[in-house]
Amino acid sequence: MQETKSTCCYCGVGCGVIIESEGDRIVGVRGDPDHPANFGRLCTKGSTLHLTARHDLRALYPEMRLEKHEPRQRVSWDDALDHAVQHFAQTIREHGPDSVGFYISGQLLTEDYYVFNKLAKGLIGTNNIDTNSRLCMSSAVAGYKATLGADAPPACYEDIDHAQCLFIAGSNTAYAHPIVFRRIEDARKNNPDLKLIVVDPRRTDTAQSADLFLPIQPGTDVALFNGMLHVMLWEGLVDMDYVRAHTEGFDALKETVREYTPKLVADICGVPEADIVTAARWFGTGPTLSMYCQGLNQSSSGTDKNAALINLHLATGQIGKPGAGPFSLTGQPNAMGGREVGGMANLLSAHRNLADPQHRAEIATFWGVEQVPDKPGKSAVEMFDAVKNGEIKALWIACTNPAQSMPDLGSVHEALANVPFLVVQDAYRNIDTARYADVLLPATTWGEKEGTVTNSERRITHVVPAVAAPGETRPDWQIMVDFARRLGFMLEKGYEALQLFPYEAPEAIFNEHRETTRGRDLDITGLSYAMLDSQGPQQWPLPEGAMQGQARLYADGVFPQPGGKAKFVSAKYRAVAEKTDARFPFHLTTGRMRDQWHGMSRTGTVPQLFNHVEEPMLAMNADDMARRQLQNGDLVKVSSRRGNLMLRVKESDEVMPAQAYIPMHWGGQFMNGAGVNALTLSNFDPVSKQPELKHAAIKVEKA
Ligand code: SF4
Repeated sequence: MQETKSTCCYCGVGCGVIIESEGDRIVGVRGDPDHPANFGRLCTKGSTLHLTARHDLRALYPEMRLEKHEPRQRVSWDDALDHAVQHFAQTIREHGPDSVGFYISGQLLTEDYYVFNKLAKGLIGTNNIDTNSRLCMSSAVAGYKATLGADAPPACYEDIDHAQCLFIAGSNTAYAHPIVFRRIEDARKNNPDLKLIVVDPRRTDTAQSADLFLPIQPGTDVALFNGMLHVMLWEGLVDMDYVRAHTEGFDALKETVREYTPKLVADICGVPEADIVTAARWFGTGPTLSMYCQGLNQSSSGTDKNAALINLHLATGQIGKPGAGPFSLTGQPNAMGGREVGGMANLLSAHRNLADPQHRAEIATFWGVEQVPDKPGKSAVEMFDAVKNGEIKALWIACTNPAQSMPDLGSVHEALANVPFLVVQDAYRNIDTARYADVLLPATTWGEKEGTVTNSERRITHVVPAVAAPGETRPDWQIMVDFARRLGFMLEKGYEALQLFPYEAPEAIFNEHRETTRGRDLDITGLSYAMLDSQGPQQWPLPEGAMQGQARLYADGVFPQPGGKAKFVSAKYRAVAEKTDARFPFHLTTGRMRDQWHGMSRTGTVPQLFNHVEEPMLAMNADDMARRQLQNGDLVKVSSRRGNLMLRVKESDEVMPAQAYIPMHWGGQFMNGAGVNALTLSNFDPVSKQPELKHAAIKVEKA
């Protein structure tokens, strides 16, 4: 039996695994005791990964069709790529570069991401490349950039062990990041004085273990955080020396939070005044580590929610020291790696901004192209809108399933059904999106590919294949390099394409990416595959000459903002995008189950992962069910202004009155054509453009 070190391909905790294989078969998996993210532990999902290494649901060879009404047929790689190239080249020639788009994934490796981004922005000349990370972390990114100046989580897992107060907001860490939660449990055992505050509309497993639980009304986080700052000001918990030395904009924020009295905030959030005061005192005394996820991010005011929480850290000086800091928990395994290489519509390599002419010039020079286009690309929701209205005529989707994961699915399915040409590049052929593909390209997946991933604490791990690629599958980066070279010839840029895409192995891509980071906040010029293999996973930054990465940022109080000072963001509370009313009286919230991952392409193949929860349910409060004469297990029709679902209802004391909850995982293959996103809305945050997947107004009727 052979053993290969890798990482778990599910969540952003980024646990190290050891894959056990015999020949071309993965036969076992266990936690890597040497990996600093998990020290050998795995959750139920990670520990069953080997059971998902089966081939019956995989895309194993290329398929294509010449007409929309025809079924796809198995073809050679040459035929499939030539067909894709022909359509993309013709579309670009006839309608310009912005008539094509790429929608990729936080589950790709960093090297894959780099090639996609260079293809779109460097060769084709469009910024229409976005990713499902837009649905996941873009509000956290916007919050960091607005306040601290860079997309860089300043804390690390080790801070859990040093904190005196853990402030979890909008995260069911026990389910969504289980190994982080194990670490929290250990820290509480070791330090009985450690306080755990949980802010969530739902009494989740995480909330049930809290010392203080604040069950706020959906979307009212900014009011709560502003209210806590109001209390901190009254009680002398603000560190004015730190504020004066290291920040700007506090006076404006002070003016804003003046009106957020505990009384007003208690009314808005639906929690007792005394609990708001207690939360402010515990947070302000610290050291406080806040951990947060989609409850803050997937919101039409996501950037403000993130910034308002970071304000609390800056005001109390709870940042840059052991046990203190804002710490966004990354949803996907490599959402951060994708941002590092600029693989989004508004970014460029190494955390550069597309809107900055200097940054565009730097990357154009680095790539050796005339220019990087300045026209902003389409973010996720905008991209599918552009597909629907005919602006984008050829779309390439890789390693993600937007036909399940995007909000307002009715609209997205319409777009996918009508786009003139669609390529889907994926490891799985049974995902909802694949049925719309004109060309299906089979990609390698976990345990079969080489590259790097970055986890929530900025830690980069080098992963290598444990087994050979099955069937005719190919690594994502290689598919794109092949496509890019062929497209270059069709666009009469053949020589340029060969210069831009000379790679024969992922290490060459990593080395090029590494060079783009020189002098940037995420400088990894001291890192190499060899170093990662010999010294283990490393946190960035790790500039040339450094012996190891940096665990914690901003210890010196200098921030990557002009003048070196962090900025307070003065944000007022805004209500959810879709308010409840007489027709749609329930607040729907969405979330993860403990044992499932995303759209279940992988976890849905493991029977024991259904032992925890067997089927999708609408969870409701007992009083609400009684008022509607609903019994446990009744079939109900759940409707929003965009669509409806039929599913069973279940009484739950986790759910507050006038609220309801549906897990996010079940999609078309399990739920008669649609999942929870048939109900959600596509309204997005104006800065981060992340849609409000966490909340919608619904009605519930007995079916
Ligand atoms: Fe995988 Fe996340 Fe579980 Fe770790 S916590 S084993 S990364 S799913």
